[in-house]
Amino acid sequence: MQQFLNIVNGETLANGSGRWIDSEDPFTGKVWSQIPQGTTQDAEAAIAAAFDAGSSGPWASMTPTVRGKLLHRLADLIERDAEKLATLEVRDNGKLRAEMLGQVRYLPEYYRYFGGLADKIEGGVLPSDKPDMFTYTRHEPLGVVVCITPWNSPLLLLTWKLAALLAAGNTAVIKPSEFTSASTLAFVALFKEAGFPNGVVNTVTGYGHEIGAALTEHPKVAKVAFTGGDATGKAVYQAAAKGMKHVSLELGGKSPNIIFDDANLDDAVKGAISGIFAASGQSCIAGSRLLVQRSIYKEVAQRVTEFAATAQLGNPMDEATQVGPITTRPQRQKVLEYIAVAKDEGATCLLGGKVPDRADLADGWFVEPTIFGDVTNAMRIAQEEVFGPVLSIIPFEDEEDAIRIANDTIYGLAAGIWTGSIRRAFKMSNALRAGTVWVNTYRAVSFMAPFGGYKQSGLGRENGQDAIYEFLQTKCVWINLAEGVPNPFVLR
Ligand code: NAP
Repeated sequence: MQQFLNIVNGETLANGSGRWIDSEDPFTGKVWSQIPQGTTQDAEAAIAAAFDAGSSGPWASMTPTVRGKLLHRLADLIERDAEKLATLEVRDNGKLRAEMLGQVRYLPEYYRYFGGLADKIEGGVLPSDKPDMFTYTRHEPLGVVVCITPWNSPLLLLTWKLAALLAAGNTAVIKPSEFTSASTLAFVALFKEAGFPNGVVNTVTGYGHEIGAALTEHPKVAKVAFTGGDATGKAVYQAAAKGMKHVSLELGGKSPNIIFDDANLDDAVKGAISGIFAASGQSCIAGSRLLVQRSIYKEVAQRVTEFAATAQLGNPMDEATQVGPITTRPQRQKVLEYIAVAKDEGATCLLGGKVPDRADLADGWFVEPTIFGDVTNAMRIAQEEVFGPVLSIIPFEDEEDAIRIANDTIYGLAAGIWTGSIRRAFKMSNALRAGTVWVNTYRAVSFMAPFGGYKQSGLGRENGQDAIYEFLQTKCVWINLAEGVPNPFVLR
């Protein structure tokens, strides 16, 4: 049994509560590791360490160029340990090793990108209508940033926050998901080796309603950078408002993946599959609503169903496996409940719809790749995030109809368009209310590309150059060059 410990102020923190949270391997269903059930005292210690590191000491006085070099060193260490970190993620969340290794091997690019940006954040000297004044701006760090992450891609989603916030000169306290903390704790151990001063990056594991809430409400915290479900995101938003904290919220989605009759159907079918069955549908950007033009609806539904039926379910560690288990036992239950809801609502189950009947998968939390036809956009299965391998296929008539259906949701995280027409690609991209639109591709992300939600999919953007300003505040400095102070009773 492996046990992982928190890191606070550069040192591992003894498990003060003496209580451990078990982490179960989603493929075997057995406990494989434990993490501390953190306490409010642990949260207090982590915030104190982050606050002190950001207010005095080497990090507070470090030049952005040196900060950037540390981020580059960290990137080298991630590269060295990628296999180990990816393996921890697979044990915790059951996603394919091929996917997690790809993600971890890509992380260094984020740290190098934002490391390079650290010393390119320039304030400005302002033109002035007041000739006796010299006025300039500075971009200053916010302070302590709490990063709260979900279980589906722990290190990738942490990195989307951490690389930018550190480049901007902030410090961090991380609360990973109770289900998948191991890789985060192993990763944060690398900061000391990379040469980061103590206290710059700290962790507190535990339950969201205890530790997450304590961190969010703490008066010394300047910002909460959150990724998770929309209900939790709203609770975090409300708690943060009490202390007037900055927030960024990366929440759920019900993304439309839209196939027109002029699309290359071989590509579009693969795009539909990758949109929903990759990562067993446990992806915020899952293309869970497949909108298909009515003239090709039958053909596409049949081809997607036949393709999905060939997906190899199995051990996520095996290279041949294409669909792994659901990450947590309660999440599998939720997915099965949504399948029942879809059947009750009158959707036609074209594929799957149950736990696979295979002895070699019996210990894991599998759900068969599931496809529903005859779905209307008003059904719960088309409106609510399932976060599992469940696809709803919805017919549409023309561009206007596709836009109407696609935008008819509280969410707005991502959308896909499959078409051979450049005119249509532009028109649809402009009309869709989503933070990311893919044309003739799906599920692409990059450190260079801003990511975030419209509507209830969230607030703020991660990645891309502008993301660093989410962790900076602008100060304007006025220097009076005139002799004497004029009339003190009027605004200057
Ligand atoms: P979740 O239940 O909302 O949990 C997210 C994180 O919040 C976890 O660390 C959780 O801790 C913590 N938490 C729970 N209650 C809290 C509270 N009262 N105060 C502060 N923190 C609290 O989400 P999840 O089930 O882990 O992840 C799946 C969701 O994440 C899906 O909705 C998915 O769409 C979304 N997601 C969004 C993006 C994006 O970039 N937009 C990316 C990936 C996932 P515990 O684990 O201990 O409960």
